Amino acid sequence: MNARFLAIARDPSIIPGVHHYCDEWCHYCPVTRRCLGFRCTDEFRRQRGRRGGDATFASIEEAIAFTRELAALDGSPTEDLDAILANLPRRSGRETADPLAALAWDYAVTAAFLFTAETMAIIGEGPRASGPVPVETVLWYHLRIYMKLVRALISLARVHEGAHRVEDANGCAKLTLVSIARSRTALAALRTAVNARAIDPLIATLTALEQGIDERLPGARRFLRVGLDCPAA
Ligand code: SF4
Repeated sequence: MNARFLAIARDPSIIPGVHHYCDEWCHYCPVTRRCLGFRCTDEFRRQRGRRGGDATFASIEEAIAFTRELAALDGSPTEDLDAILANLPRRSGRETADPLAALAWDYAVTAAFLFTAETMAIIGEGPRASGPVPVETVLWYHLRIYMKLVRALISLARVHEGAHRVEDANGCAKLTLVSIARSRTALAALRTAVNARAIDPLIATLTALEQGIDERLPGARRFLRVGLDCPAA
């Protein structure tokens, strides 16, 4: 175990599990100094001599080892990671045939086609003190909505099988709901008379996704991510 990671984990200001269901947008996160994930990542980069634009991990193996170390620090299970690594692609049992996932994928692809080119130049300017602009917000969340929804649906199926904690399903679904709400606000800000025919279907898809989550995971809205949805002690 990395000794510095252990020291960070023992810092009483750390908010337990705050990095589990966050949007990973650390540039704009209010709890970086209280986040085990952020501080260990920062320390890892420092120890490996990573500079500003360098990727944090030089290989998949390095990323897996880091993920396992972080999970060991806060006592999180790694059963999904273990299952994915131990099986051939699509044989891990971590898939979903729920049509809601296909809808989220369609949203992600359409949003990417509409906004990627415009947004890459803006992202290249780096984080801004006033916060992200709407196109950045749409692009930040477009694929995360799909990924976190898929994880929520897989977790929910495993809860029904008696093999998983409902917390993971609700936590991922809550993050998806928050991502949808922010994306919808951003899309509304981008909407004009000229682009309405492109934007309105995206907003309608977000609403359909939200309804689908509420039907399948009614506990998600009540799930509180301490430090993000409510203050931590
Ligand atoms: S909780 Fe905040 S600082 Fe920690 S990983 Fe998530 S976005 Fe980054």
